[in-house]
Amino acid sequence: MLDLTYDTPKPKVISGAKQDWELVIGLEVHAQVASNAKLFSGASTRFGAEPNSNVAFVDAGMPGMLPVINEFCVEQAVRTGLGLKAVINLKSAFDRKNYFYPDLPQGYQISQLYHPIVGEGEVLVEMGDGTARTVRIERIHMEQDAGKSIHDMDPAMSFVDLNRTGVCLMEIVSRPDIRGPEEAAAYVSKLRQIMRYLGTCDGNMQNGNLRADVNVSICQPGAYERYQDSQDFSHLGTRCEIKNMNSLRFIQAAIEHEARRQIAIVEAGGTVDQETRLYDPDKGETRSMRSKEEAHDYRYFPDPDLLPLEIEQAWIDDIAARLPELPDAKKARFMADFGLSDYDASVLTADTANAAYFESVAAEAGDGKLAANWVINELFGRLKKDERGIAESPVSPAQLAAIVRLIKKGDISGKIAKDLFEITYTEGGDPEQIVEARGMKQVTDTGAIEAAVDEIIAANPAQVEKARQNPKLAGWFVGQVMKATGGKANPKAVNEIVARKLAL
Ligand code: ADP
Ligand code: MG
Repeated sequence: MLDLTYDTPKPKVISGAKQDWELVIGLEVHAQVASNAKLFSGASTRFGAEPNSNVAFVDAGMPGMLPVINEFCVEQAVRTGLGLKAVINLKSAFDRKNYFYPDLPQGYQISQLYHPIVGEGEVLVEMGDGTARTVRIERIHMEQDAGKSIHDMDPAMSFVDLNRTGVCLMEIVSRPDIRGPEEAAAYVSKLRQIMRYLGTCDGNMQNGNLRADVNVSICQPGAYERYQDSQDFSHLGTRCEIKNMNSLRFIQAAIEHEARRQIAIVEAGGTVDQETRLYDPDKGETRSMRSKEEAHDYRYFPDPDLLPLEIEQAWIDDIAARLPELPDAKKARFMADFGLSDYDASVLTADTANAAYFESVAAEAGDGKLAANWVINELFGRLKKDERGIAESPVSPAQLAAIVRLIKKGDISGKIAKDLFEITYTEGGDPEQIVEARGMKQVTDTGAIEAAVDEIIAANPAQVEKARQNPKLAGWFVGQVMKATGGKANPKAVNEIVARKLAL
C-alpha cells in the first residue's frame, strides 16, 4: 500500500474589525444505523411510512414493556468503530437521559453517556488540494432517536409521529480538531463515505439519517496549537452548538455566520455565552434555542431494564476480518496499482459502485490510466449530462474496455473513439464490430496517407511555399489530410509524412 503524506490545510482565518481570528470546530454526528428494525423493538424503520404505523409498544412507552437489544445494530456500531480505527469497548452500558417532550413517550432517551461502545479513533479528511487533516474521534455511542413533532399542519394543533422513535443512532463525537467550514463539510462527507462503504448508514441527509450538531468557537491565532500541546481547553474560546444540521452547504454557512457573530461580540468587549443555537437557512443566521444544559439536568442513570452490554474480542476480530476494503485503502491501492493521481483515485473511489466499474474496465482493458481517463472524463461526464448514476450506465464495463483496447492498439484515434463511445452509449453494440461495420478504423496504411498528402501539396503550391518559410504552417496540411480521410488517418503518421514531403 502507498503511504500517502499530506500537508496540513491552513486554518480558516476571519478578519474582525480589530484583529484576525481562527476557528475551532467539533462535530457530533448522528448517523442512523441502516437496520430494518429499531434498537430496542422489532418495529420497522422504513422511511416514509404512514405516520405512527411503525410503533411497537416499547417505542410508545407503554407500561410494563421491556427493551430488547438488537444485535444487528450493535454489530453496525462496532463495524463503524473499526472503520474509524477506533477502540471497541468490550463493556458498555445504557443510561437514561430524562427529559420531557411530546415526541418522547418514555420520558427519557436511552443513550450511552458514561460507557460508550466505541472509544477513540481517527478519520483522515482530504481537502482535494493535496492537503489533509487527521480529525480525532472521541467516542461513538448508540442511542435512540426521538419521534417527530409536526407544528405546521394545522393552525391550532401540533401532531406527533412516532415512527422514528427508538430508531438506532450512532452519535460520532469528534475532538475540536476541525479548523474551518470546508473542513467540517469534508469531515462529514468522509464519515458518510466510510459508513456507506461499510453499509452501516445510508448517509441520506435529506431524509435526516445523517445529521450534525456543530460546535463552533473562535480563538487567537496560535491558541489551538497551545490547546493541542497541553490538551488544556482553557486556551480555546467558549463554544456554541448549532443543532441538527442536515446539509453540507448549511453546515458551512452556519459555521461562517456563527464565527462572525462571536467575533463581533468579543471585539465589542462582550463574552460568548455557551448555548445551543438553531440555524435558519432562509435568513442565513443562527439564533439562540436554549442556554447550554448540563448533564445533571438530565439526571442520567443506568437503565435498570438493560444489562451492561458485554461483547467478546473474538466476535470483534471476526467482524474486523470481514470488513470490506475502505476508502483510504482503496484509493492508495488504485494509485499504486494503476499509477493514478491522488485526484483521479479520489474521484474513482468516491463510492463503491464507481470503484467497481472502473476496476472492471481497467482489468479488461489492461491499462488503468487510460481506463481512468475514459471513466472519469467521458463516461462520468456523459452520465452527468443525463442525470444518471453508474448503475444506469448504458455502456457496460466490457464495452468501455473494448473502446479503450481499440485506442491502445492504435485501431482508432482519440477523436474517433469519442464518436464510437457516443454510438455505443446511444445505440449499444459491440465497439469492435461497430468500428468494422462503419469503417472507423484508423488509416495507418502509409501509402494511402502519402497519396492524400501528395494531392493536397499539389493543389496548394502557395501554401507549400509559405510552409517552407515557416514550418509551423505544416499543421494546416495535417488538418487538410485529416479532413480528407474523415479523421481516420493516424495523426502521428500524417505529421511525419507531411514534414518529409514538404522537406522541412
Ligand atoms: P457536550 O456533551 O456537553 O455536548 P462534549 O464535551 O461532549 O460536550 O463536546 C461536544 C463537542 O464539542 C465535541 O465534538 C467537541 O469536539 C466540541 N468542542 C469542545 N470544545 C470546543 C471548543 N472550544 N470549540 C469548538 N468545539 C468544541
Ligand atoms: Mg452535545
